[in-house]
Amino acid sequence: MIQKLLIANRGEIACRIARSAGEMGIATLAIASQADEDALHVQSCDEVVYLGGHSPAESYLRRDAIISAALERGADAVHPGYGFLSEDPEFAQAVQEAGLIWVGPPAAAIRAMGLKDAAKALMQEAGVPIVPGYHGAAQSLQVLEEAAAQIGYPVLIKAVAGGGGKGMRRVDRPEEFAAHLASAQSEAQSAFGNARVLIEKFIANPRHIEIQVFGDGQKAVHLYERDCSLQRRHQKVIEEAPAPHMPSEVRDAMGRAAVRAAEAIGYASAGTVEFIVDGSAPLHENSFYFMEMNTRLQVEHPVTEEILGIDLVAWQLQVAAGGLLPRAQDEIHAQGHSIEARLYAEDSAQGFLPSIGQLHHLNFGPGLRVETGVAQGGQVTPYYDPMIAKLIATGPDRAGALQRLVRGLKLTEIAGLKTNRDFLIALLQHEDFVAGTFDTGLIARDMQVLTHAPAPTPEDWARAALCAMGLSETDQDRQSDTGFTLFTPLRQSIALRHQDQVQTLQVSLRSGGQALVDVAGEMVALDRSRISQRPAVLAGAKAYLFGEQTLVFDVIDPLQRTASVQGDGAITAPMPGLVKQVFVQAGQEVAAGDPIVILEAMKMQHTLCADHAGRVEHLTAMQNQQVDAGVVLAVIEAAQEEA
Ligand code: ADP
Repeated sequence: MIQKLLIANRGEIACRIARSAGEMGIATLAIASQADEDALHVQSCDEVVYLGGHSPAESYLRRDAIISAALERGADAVHPGYGFLSEDPEFAQAVQEAGLIWVGPPAAAIRAMGLKDAAKALMQEAGVPIVPGYHGAAQSLQVLEEAAAQIGYPVLIKAVAGGGGKGMRRVDRPEEFAAHLASAQSEAQSAFGNARVLIEKFIANPRHIEIQVFGDGQKAVHLYERDCSLQRRHQKVIEEAPAPHMPSEVRDAMGRAAVRAAEAIGYASAGTVEFIVDGSAPLHENSFYFMEMNTRLQVEHPVTEEILGIDLVAWQLQVAAGGLLPRAQDEIHAQGHSIEARLYAEDSAQGFLPSIGQLHHLNFGPGLRVETGVAQGGQVTPYYDPMIAKLIATGPDRAGALQRLVRGLKLTEIAGLKTNRDFLIALLQHEDFVAGTFDTGLIARDMQVLTHAPAPTPEDWARAALCAMGLSETDQDRQSDTGFTLFTPLRQSIALRHQDQVQTLQVSLRSGGQALVDVAGEMVALDRSRISQRPAVLAGAKAYLFGEQTLVFDVIDPLQRTASVQGDGAITAPMPGLVKQVFVQAGQEVAAGDPIVILEAMKMQHTLCADHAGRVEHLTAMQNQQVDAGVVLAVIEAAQEEA
């Protein structure tokens, strides 16, 4: 048995591994970079070793420091998770040479599958079908061009050391071959230090179907398939098990091929054999081809666990400690359907650009299995993958799982940064996805529809205005994020911006919790019960409305309004903060609207302005001074009315 496990990873997968280890009574040791000092994975483990640094090279990739940490803290095993060092045969070997248990496949198996061309040759020998193509050592333009012509266009150029879609180019016409080859080679050289490529037949309407395998070094079993065809830039977004419209004879044939692949390399632990399937026709026993084997636990492993009712991490820990395969092939039966969506901090409409910042508000919808490595208040940093969570829904059948996932996503609220939440909701409701007839090109083809954001209705503006006044947020945010509730008058005007549209809304509050909002002349009435119909959150001077789509409104300079509300010329700090700048001197004449002080609070800068013309009396604000809420920063003595 393993006594103490070092988890050589971070984020959701480190939390996930810590959970299974904890349930088995195994003590857990986290590692963390400086950027991750307070991260959830650190809190999920019994102990932590800080490696310092921010970038992976300074932290999670420090092989020697990680092994030393394990030895010093008395760990007897290392689990690498996925990514980072999980498929590094040197590290696997070094861990074992240090006398520690490696929770993963043997270094030799990782090496055998490390390069795509060698893996394909090996698989061909083991009788596993591969995509027709050229995997030779000769790499001259002439040889590769001839190979492409022989395979027949369109072809795919792939870096043999590739991963994550890097160094991969589709070529449709012979005259474009040379240019695409050059760019694939240079990308491969810079990403992997290896420019070698292979050429493959491009499969029309490809579906990505992979088989989960598990071995004990001698024998292997397969644990059904996952369909991971919904991809953006060759990266998986939605995964499910089992694959839609999968005939059992095709599953058996793919499963047998995957087991042959695993046993051919003496595989131990969890692994995945990825196949590409021609999706232009019904699935057939002879229409799947080996792509590559991932010699680690995959991101999308939970959907397999859900339909089989097993814990793959627990299996890994048992087998690594010398245990036998927990189940034989004929004891493995799937039930129901499970779908996973990867929730990312990114701007889907802007080419899936990562979004960095603080998660001011984070609330996952009900009915989901949530695998996450962040908590509300946590940060998405530029140093690591911007995944916020994996959301997994399981149901008795595909339609049931899908309904549950869509509902869970619609009730998921995230404020503080951009996410792909709305994109996922649209994707899961795409008619081809619903029908189970889709291929890896779906997202790229329908990008516009999937990222379409409708303009806010007058009711949305009205709700956002109430949210900005602090009238519809949760209690927690009410305390931390705004000073409005302290000053909320019965009538107020609120200026909001949505993209490039600015509106000033007049809000009147009635008794009985009713509000009447004037939205550009249209009167919108909302009462308490309707306000809470659509969740809204005020975070960092933005009002967020959730639902099928997230609408974000900037609240324009709310503190200026707060100051003017008081009307006695006192400029007070509406929340604790730091005085960043003082624009005036005592005795100075100011006009209405002149900036007096910039206060930094909640990581935002707020300009406090004079609400009327006059002279600055009692200036107490000083630059770099920390002030409490309610402190008077300056008093503006009103100018005498000229007769
Ligand atoms: P990487 O290791 O870079 O992720 P893979 O070989 O796993 O590359 O391929 C990634 C994705 O590219 C696949 O899931 C599939 O969508 C697409 N793809 C790969 N090979 C082919 C092919 N021969 N024809 C069409 N699409 C392919």
